Amino acid sequence: MAEVISRELLEILACPKCKGEVELDEKRPALICRRCMLVYEIRDGIPVMLIDEATPLEETQDPDGK
Ligand SMILES: [Zn+2]
Repeated sequence: MAEVISRELLEILACPKCKGEVELDEKRPALICRRCMLVYEIRDGIPVMLIDEATPLEETQDPDGK
């Protein structure tokens, strides 16, 4: 699978709300902050790191579901 965004970029990105680490979801694609339960969309390879643009993370969609 092609990289949605580079690992280097992912490492420097932080949640604009809590300044914490974000996690890549390659399926959407999007970046997820589990602390804030927010999903930041990636549009044309550019993560939209804006609280106003973020959507709430729904736990029921978690594919691991353990
Ligand atoms: Zn956060």
